[in-house]
Amino acid sequence: MGPIIGIDLGTTNSVAAYMKDGQPVIIPNLEGDALTPSVVAFARDDHRWVGRVARAQAVANPLRTVFSVKRRMGRTCSAPASEAVISSIKRQMGSDYVVTVDGRAYTPVEISAMILEKIKADAETFLGESVERAVITVPAYFNDSQRRATKDAAAIAGLEVVRLVNEPTAAALAYGLDIEKAHTILVWDLGGGTFDVSVLELGEGVFEVKAVNGNTHLGGDDYDQRLAGMLVQRFRDDWHIDLDSDPADQRLIRQLAEDAKMKLSTQLDVRVVLPHSFGRGSRCAVTVTRDEFEKATADLTEKMAASAQCALADAGLDPADLDRIVLVGGMTRMPAVRRLVRELTGLEPYAHIDPDQVVALGAAIQAGVLAGEVRNVTLVDVTPLSLGIESLGGLFARVIERNTSVPTTKSRLFTNARDDQTAMDVHVLQGERALAADNMTLGRFQLSDITPQARGEAKVEVAFEIDANGIIHVSATDLQTATSQRIRVDSASGPSPEAVDRMLDESRQRMESDRRKREDIENAIRAENFLHAADELLGEAAQAGPSQVIARAVQAVETGVLAVRDALAAGEAKQIVTAGEALESALKKLSTEVKTARSAATRGRAA
Ligand code: ADP
Ligand code: MG
Repeated sequence: MGPIIGIDLGTTNSVAAYMKDGQPVIIPNLEGDALTPSVVAFARDDHRWVGRVARAQAVANPLRTVFSVKRRMGRTCSAPASEAVISSIKRQMGSDYVVTVDGRAYTPVEISAMILEKIKADAETFLGESVERAVITVPAYFNDSQRRATKDAAAIAGLEVVRLVNEPTAAALAYGLDIEKAHTILVWDLGGGTFDVSVLELGEGVFEVKAVNGNTHLGGDDYDQRLAGMLVQRFRDDWHIDLDSDPADQRLIRQLAEDAKMKLSTQLDVRVVLPHSFGRGSRCAVTVTRDEFEKATADLTEKMAASAQCALADAGLDPADLDRIVLVGGMTRMPAVRRLVRELTGLEPYAHIDPDQVVALGAAIQAGVLAGEVRNVTLVDVTPLSLGIESLGGLFARVIERNTSVPTTKSRLFTNARDDQTAMDVHVLQGERALAADNMTLGRFQLSDITPQARGEAKVEVAFEIDANGIIHVSATDLQTATSQRIRVDSASGPSPEAVDRMLDESRQRMESDRRKREDIENAIRAENFLHAADELLGEAAQAGPSQVIARAVQAVETGVLAVRDALAAGEAKQIVTAGEALESALKKLSTEVKTARSAATRGRAA
């Protein structure tokens, strides 16, 4: 059997890793990158792009490009059981959310499957063998149906999930192998769409999650949006350009904002230049400083402090009790975020493993544990929300409290509400609210053939079992007759077995044709690489000083960029190749001109 790989199926980026000679190592994708953007685009002609190509053509194809679908799987938060949090869980839980493209509706599970398909195929190319099993990470907050949805997505992609692991636990694992003594660790994960903070305890080879908290609506996207807002305002003020009404412009400005945001993690200011087509003859540019950006996003950064303090309080700890802070998520590269972590904990955060790869590396280690290659590590996770059933008067009776270590089994006795009752409805719930109706329903079943007795005399034991994957089984037993009923909680959102079968079938058929489309994909990646090169070269050209020749070459490159994006959005194989080649030669020309200008400038200085 092939290897078990570790996969971080992220909201923004997905990453794969495997164990090589006892060490976790990243598996680069076909593009050669560690990170695969979790983006799927539907081009015309049944073409589908996943990853960097999908993201690159988004400007030309904004309505048929799907981003951040994991957020739609309804990430939940067990934060101080606030109304807002719980109702948002409920809203998303039904997860009847679909993205509709060309009249065909896609569920988050299907979109995630497309991302996993690419991860699997690219890993197979890289490793040179077939990959059928994976450890996949999920947010600690993911509830049962979201975990199940993740497994379904994997199944559709042809991957068996050997284990689901919580993301913070995986991050700790990646660092954990270096840590011998017991430690209390805070994992601070700021990704593209969500903020998760977890308190873990490591000791004698055991990892235990003590508490989890966070904000499902706080991430890099929010910072991008803020910065995009600033940019729109400045281009309007300084250049009288409206970038806020057209979806393609909005996508472009979001992309420029994200690039600028990343640069501001290492630079004190950044110049944002619009493509030529906006120019009316001149290059429109504005500058944003790190200080301005930090001020404009201070409230977002501040929000994280409250969640972190909540998690510590839940774990019964003070900041002084923490031994280590582990940073996870690309956004933790932002200096203001690191500053906040330092201020809050008084500790220098651990960040020597790349924050956007650390989770996948941990997943690979867990895969190694399961394959028997890594020893002396055991995982203990916790359940993010309380579990229980509806009891008399519509109340929520908890059986398992949130933050209980899993796997676990707990039971509680219930009785009959009416005289001579012969059946009992068991309404299985998850949440933190007092009234059953305010929590989310995980399932319902009936225990029949209860011995008829006076009210309050029957003894029905309801037992909850959470297995190592965080999947829940519930049973009810009449203790007098030993009659028992048991369900594996069926999520409201999970597709039916037939639907999974259908999707599996579809994906099998797809795989055949996908193989044929391989070459198209490689051409698309090549074309997209030219887009990437164009970005860099246009940046250099902007520094080169005014010159007619360069301006013309720049314009040719920009025309080429547009053509490539359009071709990718259209999914026309031939057009992609032609546009790619045209852009390639425009790039060569511009590159030569920039070099000439530069050496002329050097000569000028030398003279
Ligand atoms: P997710 O867990 O949501 O898939 P990642 O951990 O990959 O996300 O983080 C993605 C986020 O990190 C994006 O918002 C991205 O813009 C941001 N990011 C990546 N690199 C940097 C950087 N150098 N500075 C600031 N933000 C960054
Ligand atoms: Mg992540």
